[in-house]
Amino acid sequence: MPVSDHIKQIVILGGGTAGWITANAMAHAWADQDVAITLIESPALGTVGVGEGSTPLLKVFFDSIGVEESEWMPRCNATYKNGISFAGWTSRPGFERYFHPFASQLDQHTITAFYFNTYARRLGVDVHAHPDRFFPAAHLSANKQGPRPAESFPFILEYGYHFDANLVGEFLRKAAVARGVRHIAAKVDEIRQANNGDISGLVTENGDEIHGDLFVDCSGFRAALIQQTLDVPFHSFARNLFNDAAVVLPTEQDEHIGSQTVSTALQHGWAWEIPLTERVGNGYVYSSSFCSADAAETELRTHLGLLDSDVESRHLKMKVGRVEKHWHRNCLAVGLSQGFIEPLEATALNLVCNTVDDFIKTVDSDPSPGAGRDAFNERVNGRFEHVRDYIVAHYIMNSRTDTDYWRENGENKHVSDTLQQILGIWTSGKSLSQEMERENIQSSYTPMSWNCLLAGYGFYPDIKPAGAGSAAASQIDMGAIDEFIRRCALNFPSQNDALAFS
Ligand SMILES: Cc1cc2nc3c(=O)[nH]c(=O)nc-3n(C[C@H](O)[C@H](O)[C@H](O)COP(=O)(O)OP(=O)(O)OC[C@H]3O[C@@H](n4cnc5c(N)ncnc54)[C@H](O)[C@@H]3O)c2cc1C
Repeated sequence: MPVSDHIKQIVILGGGTAGWITANAMAHAWADQDVAITLIESPALGTVGVGEGSTPLLKVFFDSIGVEESEWMPRCNATYKNGISFAGWTSRPGFERYFHPFASQLDQHTITAFYFNTYARRLGVDVHAHPDRFFPAAHLSANKQGPRPAESFPFILEYGYHFDANLVGEFLRKAAVARGVRHIAAKVDEIRQANNGDISGLVTENGDEIHGDLFVDCSGFRAALIQQTLDVPFHSFARNLFNDAAVVLPTEQDEHIGSQTVSTALQHGWAWEIPLTERVGNGYVYSSSFCSADAAETELRTHLGLLDSDVESRHLKMKVGRVEKHWHRNCLAVGLSQGFIEPLEATALNLVCNTVDDFIKTVDSDPSPGAGRDAFNERVNGRFEHVRDYIVAHYIMNSRTDTDYWRENGENKHVSDTLQQILGIWTSGKSLSQEMERENIQSSYTPMSWNCLLAGYGFYPDIKPAGAGSAAASQIDMGAIDEFIRRCALNFPSQNDALAFS
């Protein structure tokens, strides 16, 4: 049964990144069907204007709609991202910093050694068990190399991007309009509902009413349709995740462009550093219960050496949590309207792409009204909870004691059963991969990512007296791993060279 039997008119409210990703994905998926898509956005209200780091799923999205990197990256000041470095989150000696790569085919050569050593170290054996030396991406990032190897190199490294959020929005708008999406620049002042409670139309400030069969709420934190009109409850994550504000400041780009996001813990949160081609994006994500906006800005300026500079800052509020149902009645919520988890692992656009892709597949498999809706909502909620658990783990693992903020984070008891199970497996000395599979622990993060996080923070017992486990200690030849990674790295150009699109 074609989708267009039930959905002929799709109306998207909001022209931020979520709105334009949704418009492109739907226009592409249903290009050969009689489905009209309209996107309404208010230039006066504007977009959130942040969100500059992605996971590899953004590449999957661009590939799926047939847009080449050489087309969009230069227009969006985009750079390649190998992963994220976490600096200053713990004071455990030797673990002051670690790198979280994206799971990649190339890691298959070293990951067994990584698992072996982290396992041995969890049993108290004195082996090298910090993640960075086991991952080619960590080496590339330290040397400002990009993730795309020479053509002759036979292995793939997964990567994400850094980009200017406003320019990506503009690029995607043009792409969507070229695919036939109708664009209306106007504020929506009234939302009309039919007798059965479904949304029937959006009335703009000019008095025009735009009718639809399906309405997509991409109105950002306002959540004008899903929350304000349909009253879908919002589940806050504030008990687990304290941060609710951010201050943003650009700095100049170096001659040699970096290829990782750096996340540095400050007194009441953490600061991101995201290298774009034309500037470096910086922001301090903090908790307003522990720190005023002025104090946060001063701390960020001090951190960046901008205390005496008049570079303008921007302050933002964040609402952290998720709606109970992402698809309710004839409304789908995508982006900040459906929920937000603070940006520590740059997962928001990942959730946007997942939500839209899942929705399209659900509707394609059975387009009759509401078919598959409950299962869809359960899946999306699961993704939000899994990402939340992984972010919460960063805060539980911190060993800073310099402020109440860090002490209260470290002592926070609001931890999900899943996260407790994972921490339990780790401390019991069992294999994380095998136990997560055996106990059917669902997580959006792979055992590799969990191993990196827990090992990266040095979450290990004390080393046992010499002698115990000495056979294990000598089994992995770290010199050979260093040499393998060094030789691999010879095949990867610098970030600057990787960005020289012809
Ligand atoms: C501090 C911070 C850092 C972040 N960092 C990252 C990151 O590194 N990686 C990542 O993936 N994500 C990140 N995010 C999230 C990311 O910014 C958002 O997921 C992404 O920009 C999508 O936003 P959106 O389109 O849902 O909302 P918005 O950008 O807010 O867009 C909302 C749209 O709705 C329109 N609108 C609202 N009401 C009306 C109305 N009544 N009439 C007409 N139009 C209306 C607005 O005009 C606008 O066009 C970050 C977010 C924050 C707050």
